[in-house]
Amino acid sequence: MVVKNKLALPAAGDWRDRGGSYVFEPRERFKGFESLYVLPLLVKDEVMGTFTVAAQRAGAFPADRREMLGVIANQVAISMQNGRMVQALEEQATTDGLTGLVNHRTFQERFSAMLGRAERHPMRVSFLLTDIDHFKKINDTHGHPTGDQVLKRVAAILKASARKIDIVARYGGEEFALVLEGTDRTGARQLAERIRQEVGAQAHDSAKGPFRATLSLGVAVYPEDGKSKQELIANADQALYVAKHSGRNRTVCHGELVRAKDEPPRARVAAG
Ligand code: GH3
Ligand code: MG
Ligand code: MG
Repeated sequence: MVVKNKLALPAAGDWRDRGGSYVFEPRERFKGFESLYVLPLLVKDEVMGTFTVAAQRAGAFPADRREMLGVIANQVAISMQNGRMVQALEEQATTDGLTGLVNHRTFQERFSAMLGRAERHPMRVSFLLTDIDHFKKINDTHGHPTGDQVLKRVAAILKASARKIDIVARYGGEEFALVLEGTDRTGARQLAERIRQEVGAQAHDSAKGPFRATLSLGVAVYPEDGKSKQELIANADQALYVAKHSGRNRTVCHGELVRAKDEPPRARVAAG
């Protein structure tokens, strides 16, 4: 009733009809209280919750106290609203609006932190960089909104493939990044291939009919493929470049690249 009517109850602060009705669920019922006052937590006419005060003695909430409690409830409601706004802003600042993944800036911060941990307590960290194949063509053929749907689906697959401790980020446009804590190249390649297959198996709908999208992935592993974040990103990027130029829809690990003298690196293992 308090939420519905946006008014404090009971009106006079006296809990009269105690025998006939109760305010809370039986298991939450107050015992030994004679006075009760429930106030709505209002911000601009929107109810955020209720604020309940009870006292053991009768007549504890005369008019002047009820007025004071009203002022306190207003302050509580405003504080709650501010807290929620700060939380929402924090969320907006760290996540990508389209996919709900971590954004580029947060990815950089968390990747640095994870490498810091790996330095102190030696472990492997795998970095996966992914890029959707011929995404421009998907946009051109099926329209930008359909392209956005593909991005969301790929993001969801990445998110579902990772563990809680991993970082899954929208790296840029149609590029995603994954950082896997305590995962070596074998594990990273397995996961990359699982993701690649799952993305390729999805059918997307558009006015032009169903279509599929494929993914290319580049992998670099700390510490063997690079000790710094910059080095790892550059080397995963190079592996991704090789994946693109050796046919797309494949995973290439930097550690498996063979490089002839003065020649660009190429993939030794051709997946796909
Ligand atoms: P490649 O196989 O070489 O990766 O070819 P590609 O066409 O995917 O080339 P590229 O990676 O350079 O293309 C990126 C495209 O992604 C260009 C840009 O219009 C599109 N894109 C970037 N961000 C978004 C987005 O948020 N939504 C949509 N629909 N498209 C985006
Ligand atoms: Mg790209
Ligand atoms: Mg692309």
